[in-house]
Amino acid sequence: MGKDYYEILGVARGASTDEIKKAYRKMALKYHPDRNPGDKEAEERFKLCAEAYEVLSDPEKRRLYDAYGEEGLSSRGVHHGFRGFEDIFSAFQDIFGDLGFDLGFGGGRGRTRVRRGRDLRHEMTVSLAEVIRGGTRKIKVRKPAPCGECGGTGAAAPEDVRPCPTCQGRGMVLQVVRQGFTTIQSTTPCPDCRGAGRRVERPCPACDGAGTAQVERVVEVRIPPGVEDGQQIRVEGAGEEVPGGVPGDLYIRLREEEHPLYERRGADLFAPLRVDLLTAIEGGEVEVEGPDGEPLRVRIDKEVQSGTVKVLRGGGVPVLGHPGMRGNLYFQVWVATPTGLTREQKEALRAALSGTGSAAGPEHHGGWKDWVRAFFGGER
Ligand SMILES: [Zn+2]
Ligand SMILES: [Zn+2]
Repeated sequence: MGKDYYEILGVARGASTDEIKKAYRKMALKYHPDRNPGDKEAEERFKLCAEAYEVLSDPEKRRLYDAYGEEGLSSRGVHHGFRGFEDIFSAFQDIFGDLGFDLGFGGGRGRTRVRRGRDLRHEMTVSLAEVIRGGTRKIKVRKPAPCGECGGTGAAAPEDVRPCPTCQGRGMVLQVVRQGFTTIQSTTPCPDCRGAGRRVERPCPACDGAGTAQVERVVEVRIPPGVEDGQQIRVEGAGEEVPGGVPGDLYIRLREEEHPLYERRGADLFAPLRVDLLTAIEGGEVEVEGPDGEPLRVRIDKEVQSGTVKVLRGGGVPVLGHPGMRGNLYFQVWVATPTGLTREQKEALRAALSGTGSAAGPEHHGGWKDWVRAFFGGER
């Protein structure tokens, strides 16, 4: 006969997930080791309830259990049951976190909560091309992690880790305070092992018993297209690593590299476009380095004027979180005046240009205002 998990938790066979959770909270509170120091029977009940809850709170495990019983779970290789308290606390953090064992029951801190490594911060510089394309980057991060020699135990060999004799490995000691006719019992973290429940006979020579070491890890960072200077990317689990706990996260603050040509305002880009005099007169194509680093050819109309703005719609930066949306690219034409002409060249030019007309000035040219409006309109 297998164990009757419903009976253990005191719920009906048709109980809802919520009822099962409530029942388990009640049982966990009643048999919690902090409330029953040294009580072996309570300890057994506590473990049994956790096992029952583990199965009944998982729809798939519960279905197998209902159909085939406890033996059915084992024969199908389904995990159920726990090795010790730490396992139980780490599996049901949500329950123990709000049962109040951190505050109300004599400082169960460190036992009711799984240790979590600290979050770490890092900075990363991204180029405009990376902002546009997105992609992944591998960066090296130095951080604390469990010592590779001792696996974080701080001991020279596994057999050097012994249960603390003061608290018999419980990590907690019972404290009795008498006030007149009243005795107040409470449990406090063991003063000899500081709640760890173990003692190290010979410390690990690699880390001097600290259990931690500085390691260098390569972290892959995904850069979503359209990120902006100052934004943070979170890499889950890439923070500090702690023995027996969960690692913290890594937060990467982005710095956008200044581009020599392109100025960015939100998703729009602005740049000057240098056009030589003959191309300005005859029209043609000008090749520049595009924002993504690839060559970009821009068509120039004949008789183009300095100040004219060419708008390449969708040629800007992708809008973060909106795939397919991109800002515009604004080029402002700068007609390059030839320099270093000889006296003969100047004479020839004067003769050639005499009597030619010229277009209206920039004050009649919409391009200039478009440029300014786009510039300030695009600013955030
Ligand atoms: Zn101790
Ligand atoms: Zn070590």
